[in-house]
Amino acid sequence: MRIDRLSHAILFCGEEGSGALPLALSLAQYLHCTNKNTVDQTPCGICPACAKTTKLIHPDIHFAVPVNKPKGMTGSRPPVTDDFIELWREACLNNPGLTEQDWYNMLDIENKQGTISVAEAEAMLRKLQFKPFESSVKVMIIWLPERMNLPAGNKLLKILEEPPAGTYFFLVSEHPYLLLPTIRSRCMNIPVPPGHLKAPDKESIRDIEELLDLCLAGKASLVLDWAEDMAVRSREYQKNFVNQSLRLLREYFMISLDLPDQVRLDREQQIVATPRIAHMNSDFFPKAYEQLNAIPEQIERNVNARPLFCSLAFFFFVSLQK
Ligand SMILES: [Zn+2]
Repeated sequence: MRIDRLSHAILFCGEEGSGALPLALSLAQYLHCTNKNTVDQTPCGICPACAKTTKLIHPDIHFAVPVNKPKGMTGSRPPVTDDFIELWREACLNNPGLTEQDWYNMLDIENKQGTISVAEAEAMLRKLQFKPFESSVKVMIIWLPERMNLPAGNKLLKILEEPPAGTYFFLVSEHPYLLLPTIRSRCMNIPVPPGHLKAPDKESIRDIEELLDLCLAGKASLVLDWAEDMAVRSREYQKNFVNQSLRLLREYFMISLDLPDQVRLDREQQIVATPRIAHMNSDFFPKAYEQLNAIPEQIERNVNARPLFCSLAFFFFVSLQK
């Protein structure tokens, strides 16, 4: 992608779970990457800018997302994204397919909906008046811009009409028809088809299920083969595997704690889960999270993936023997 031809305002439209947010984030990563591959148009994945972007801590990526006052938050000031930025990073990183409801559950706002308020639009303006800190450009990601109220929408429209220099706006919308038509027409529209994220996710879930079943069957040599296969996959694939594994184990943990309300697996997935969970004691889950959580950072640091996945597979193998 020729950056000089990229529109300064892009509207990524995709239904829930379409992967529109990860797509916007990967474009932001590409813009900031200091060692990008301009032939196949990919970020390098290992420069300091990429490392910061993948952790969502790059100082030139800003977020505006719908928020509301959680239980127990006092004061008359309307809440803005920055009040919850740590939580937002955690939500995004742990769950690339984050839904609006997932986010509200994390905010703990009960049955209220989030809003992107005028206070948020003003905060946006304040942040964007500065030069970029580390990159040559700034990226403002607005997740679910349809949650902007009218005054906030009008403020954003003014910003889009006269965008601050070197600033890109990525609007990630599930219901673009709810946006002001004047905002929509200011943006380059990129439809993100459903399933953009789903195929690799399914593959990653199969990978972790296969690992669990090989461990339960006591097939040590096949477990090692599994690790060898995983070690030669791309970094993105490996990170996605880690994310999906964390998600699946979270579900298993909820089942093991007998909290069926918290479980988001369908019936078929729950049936195949039962014999696996029978081998997972309460120690297993925190240790497995720790092992998995350590992997993405090491992948980013370009650590040799072979010992990494061998040790992960060995941990599962030992933990699941009874
Ligand atoms: Zn890079």
